[in-house]
Amino acid sequence: MRDFSYQQADSVGAAIKAHATDKDSAYIAGGTTLLDLAKLEVMRPAKLVDVRKTGFDEIERLDDGRLRIGTNVTNTDLAYHEDVQKHYTVLSEALLSGASTSIRNKATTGGNVMQRVRCSYFRDNVSPCNKRNPGSGCSAIDGFNRSVYAVLGTSKHCIVAHPSDMCVAMAAIGATISVQGPNGQREIDFLDFHLKPGNTPWKEHALDADEMITHVTLDAPIEGAKSHYLKLRDRASYQFALASSGVIVAVDGGVVKQARIALGGVGTKPWRAHNAEQALVGQPIDQANFEQVAKLAFQDAQAYEHNAFKIPLGQQAIVRSLTTVTA
Ligand SMILES: Cc1cc2nc3c(=O)[nH]c(=O)nc-3n(C[C@H](O)[C@H](O)[C@H](O)COP(=O)(O)OP(=O)(O)OC[C@H]3O[C@@H](n4cnc5c(N)ncnc54)[C@H](O)[C@@H]3O)c2cc1C
Repeated sequence: MRDFSYQQADSVGAAIKAHATDKDSAYIAGGTTLLDLAKLEVMRPAKLVDVRKTGFDEIERLDDGRLRIGTNVTNTDLAYHEDVQKHYTVLSEALLSGASTSIRNKATTGGNVMQRVRCSYFRDNVSPCNKRNPGSGCSAIDGFNRSVYAVLGTSKHCIVAHPSDMCVAMAAIGATISVQGPNGQREIDFLDFHLKPGNTPWKEHALDADEMITHVTLDAPIEGAKSHYLKLRDRASYQFALASSGVIVAVDGGVVKQARIALGGVGTKPWRAHNAEQALVGQPIDQANFEQVAKLAFQDAQAYEHNAFKIPLGQQAIVRSLTTVTA
């Protein structure tokens, strides 16, 4: 592991200033992604700017019904918050399906949004990888591309899936990410924050230089809707998703009035299945309709040598989560 300097910031302004003074700075929160990658020398920050004393550690219901979450709120506190358990079940379930209790106690909201991919070629620090070493190639495309590789949103330069469970739930709910940087504050729609790899897989998110996340604000809950997160994985705990489905559905008289469907483990970003949602609205709740929309969600999927099973698995995740939430 290389030497680096460490600075604890006591305000967002101080954090941004400290970050902007060194080219190779990185913000650090819980450290559960960053320190692993620094030890592997995949991330090589010259300076760590600790944001945990900058505030932003509260969850607040706004007058318009939205829920504002400070970047430093831990995954545990968010998962067990009364409002989240009651009105955003999909988020609580997604958080509690991730990592382990001790990691969730340290991991923060902003850190989870910004977590890096779990591709073994990215993390081994040796294999060609366009994310780590732009232009070097993607070892996963012709390599072992099973568990953490995507079938939606891939490109010829990168095929790794986005690893977060929390972000899948937020993509389903709808949210805004507030950021602050040298040029002031701005807001980014959650669905625009994570980027598909395209021709620039090393560019993973919409943050500009030195910008820091301060909040994630969830859209107001859909009245009368129920929600659920289903995560399918190789073992029942402490494992990333092979495929997951976060759904929010409002039903009236046996007919779907509103639907949100987001997918994890199968997309290069937290994946919102808009076409499947649109097809579900107005339909009676029955298995055949769920199967139909699940197929639609994967109509543009591209499988690789070892991950073709993710297409039927992802479809099953949608069918099962819709069945559960409408039961
Ligand atoms: C063994 C293991 C298993 C895991 N399993 C799962 C799982 O099943 N599901 C899942 O979803 N996740 C899983 N994770 C990932 C875990 O959720 C993330 O490591 C965690 O959420 C990151 O949060 P953190 O606060 O520790 O971030 P850090 O490690 O501190 O930072 C992560 C990244 O975010 C940046 N960052 C942090 N805060 C800010 C900010 N305010 N503004 C801008 N940038 C910021 C950092 O610079 C860094 O690039 C697992 C992790 C481990 C180690």
